[in-house]
Amino acid sequence: MSTKRDYYEVLGLQKNSSQDEIKSQYRKLALKFHPDRNKSPDASEHFKEISEAYAVLSDTEKRKIYDNYGHAGVDGKYSTEDIFQGSKVNFEDIFGSGFESIFENIFGGGGGGFRFGGFDFGFGRERGADLVYDTEITLEDVLRGKKEEIEIPSDIQCSDCKGTGATPGTSMRTCSVCNGHGQVRTSRSSGFSTFVTVQPCNTCRGQGKIIERPCSKCKGSGKQRGKRHFSFEIPAGIETGEYRIKGEGESMSNGVSGDLIVRIKVRPHDKFKRDGADIFYDENISMIDATLGKKLTVPTLEGNEKIDVEAGSQPNTIIKLKGKGVPHQGIRSRGDQYVRLVVNIPKKIDKHQRKLLEELRDNLHQEE
Ligand SMILES: [Zn+2]
Ligand SMILES: [Zn+2]
Repeated sequence: MSTKRDYYEVLGLQKNSSQDEIKSQYRKLALKFHPDRNKSPDASEHFKEISEAYAVLSDTEKRKIYDNYGHAGVDGKYSTEDIFQGSKVNFEDIFGSGFESIFENIFGGGGGGFRFGGFDFGFGRERGADLVYDTEITLEDVLRGKKEEIEIPSDIQCSDCKGTGATPGTSMRTCSVCNGHGQVRTSRSSGFSTFVTVQPCNTCRGQGKIIERPCSKCKGSGKQRGKRHFSFEIPAGIETGEYRIKGEGESMSNGVSGDLIVRIKVRPHDKFKRDGADIFYDENISMIDATLGKKLTVPTLEGNEKIDVEAGSQPNTIIKLKGKGVPHQGIRSRGDQYVRLVVNIPKKIDKHQRKLLEELRDNLHQEE
């Protein structure tokens, strides 16, 4: 159900308003509703609405199309990006050099969005907004993959009117202007030709029906904000980054759904470092164990593993545990774990230990 308001109405202007009036009225409203200043929950929506109205009405060509063909004409000719990009100069006029940053924050660079709670809402009429979901996963999750279950903010049927938009118990009447077709035909003769134009009906906004008493909860839109359940699989081997799930963003009743952008951050591990599919681990051993050799157990992402430290191992010796890394992204094989031997030299020794080491030193000198 289209709920797009008339651009002049949005800015509180008359159809014959001059460019100066449009500009000063927008400036007034923009300062009032800019989300940086106005913290009411509707402010962002409102700011977007007045900005779109201004983008169209401040541009001579777009205004002409709007005046003649209404929203259908503008939406048919321009994407939301076209509307804003093409009108950039008009915004600069209003906001001065600060415009760039406002534009980036509110509308995003490439049709992105602004933040609301944990989610980013994009901007667009014909396409639902992209939603951004942030999640942190562990290295163990990278090994096995992880199922995420989330609630996505979404328009759902209004619980009061069950989606009709009319106050429960009241009726809707068929629009008398278009006889319920939602479209109006006008024919105009010029010489020997007759031109017929079909436009969405302005009276019922193309719905064919007129709600006598709009539902007070949803103000006639038939929708309310709610949540929808969505689950998806984070595949094993994933790296920190942004991933797009097509069509799972904000849904539009008469348009294309936006995308869900999942921003995954792999949390640093307290024991392991990761590089691609390989895992790096430091094992501390004593100078004596490095000299004499030792059987050790070291942790891996899947429990402990036995390794043999050979007698005479040098500091920073690397022992490779084949296939103990995480999966390569997109393929089955796994990386390796590298265990580095960090040899600890005792910082404090007692008299007796000192004597033993001195004896050892003398002994080693004799062998040389
Ligand atoms: Zn309702
Ligand atoms: Zn109508």
